[in-house]
Order: sequence, then structure tokens, then C-alpha cells
Amino acid sequence: MKLRVLGCSGAEFPGHSPSGFLIDGCLLLDAGTVGAALDQEEQRSIEHILVTHCHMDHVRGIPFLADNIVVSGSSQKVQVLGSAEVIAAIGTHVMNGLIWPDFTRIPTPQEPVLRYREVPVEQEFQVGDYAVLACRVNHPVPALGYRVTRDGISLLYTGDTGPTERIWELAGELAALVVEVSFPSAMEEIALLTGHLTPALLAKELAKLARPPRRVLITHLKPQYQEIISSELESLAIPGLELLQDGTTYQL
Ligand SMILES: [Zn+2]
Ligand SMILES: [Zn+2]
Repeated sequence: MKLRVLGCSGAEFPGHSPSGFLIDGCLLLDAGTVGAALDQEEQRSIEHILVTHCHMDHVRGIPFLADNIVVSGSSQKVQVLGSAEVIAAIGTHVMNGLIWPDFTRIPTPQEPVLRYREVPVEQEFQVGDYAVLACRVNHPVPALGYRVTRDGISLLYTGDTGPTERIWELAGELAALVVEVSFPSAMEEIALLTGHLTPALLAKELAKLARPPRRVLITHLKPQYQEIISSELESLAIPGLELLQDGTTYQL
């Protein structure tokens, strides 16, 4: 399994783009960054998008991707998968025919470029060649984490979350955990209020896992606090821990 990081930042600055992870060129985990990182050919290979939650920094690439596909004249179809709440939010508040066209009716209502698919929770389902398990996590809006498995290799992506329980029980054996750390440990109060983790909170979350993941890949840092977060993470000496970087591809 190849994990390409399109964006792994908890904010936007040059070189720091919001969450978007492309698996094997065809399955997107969140869509905060799509068109800014992928050329037309690469965008054409996207078949499915698993959306963790409806916050702007996780969905904003979808409208532009849909537009690019339609403008290119390609017959490509993309399935947007998420909870019922996320699908309703995207349809009502983003691609609502006002903020952006409703691409579930374009180029034709019969053969639209985008289709929504509600995912079951805590019950594995198939997305292309991947077995996917969705689990609720702890964020101010309804949010899911996803475990994606292919050929016995599993990647677990928490999306945005504060301290949580169930996803760790369901994790199983992981080749990689992509987990968020947004704030330094001194900002625990705001992290908890906004449903995010600090290095100190991450250490407590990892202790809930029965088996340690082979790799612990950190995402969603606030670039304003990158140095302090990195040094706090380093001092925790968590085996297999790496800070993800935009534009990097990881072989799992
Ligand atoms: Zn969020
Ligand atoms: Zn976010």
C-alpha cells in the first residue's frame, strides 16, 4: 500500500496544506488538498473519497476536483463516502447550487460525476479493492476514523479527534497509524475544547492500543507550533513515530 501525502497540516501556509492522503493513486482519505497537489492525470485516477468529517480543511478539494473532471470531458465518476451527517452537510452547505454547483447532477442527473455513499459504522465494507472499517471519534462535529486494509496491510487514519476509546479497541494489527496531533502539550485545554490531541494526550491514546502500530505517522500539526510539537514528540520516544510531510510517499 502506498500512502501519498497531499497535505497533512492543521492550517494553511506555503508548504503546509490541509489534510489529504492518496492511497495507491485511487483512494483518497479526506480531501482538504487535492487539485493543488495532483495534476490532471493524477486527479483522473481518483475513484473514491473517504471523508472523515465535514470541516472545511477536510472537504474543500471535492468541489474543485468535480469541476476539473467535468471540464476535462472525462467520463470519470467519483464516489464520496462518509456518514449521513457529512453527506448531508456537503450537499446542503457546500455543493448546494449556491456556494458551488451540485455535482451530483452534473454533467447529467443520470450520470453525475459525484455520487454520495453513506458508510456503515463498525461494520467492514468494501471500497474498490479495500476493506474499510469506520468508527466514530471525538470531535465537535460527527467524525469518523477509517481503517483501510488491502492484502493484509492495514492503515488506520483517525481524522481529527480528541481523546477517544472505541477506535483503539477495533484497531487490530496496524502497518501504520495516521493520527493527529494539533497543539503543543501546554495547550491541552484548547485541544480538548476543539477535539484535538497534543503530544501528551497522544501518549495516553497510544497506551489504549493492545498492539503498537509498526509506524505512527503524525498529521494535522498547527505549523505555528511545529517546533515545540516536534520536540515534545521526540522526547516521548514513541517507536516508529514520524512526522508526515506534504508531498511525501510512504510505502506501507
Ligand atoms: Zn475538524
Ligand atoms: Zn482538521
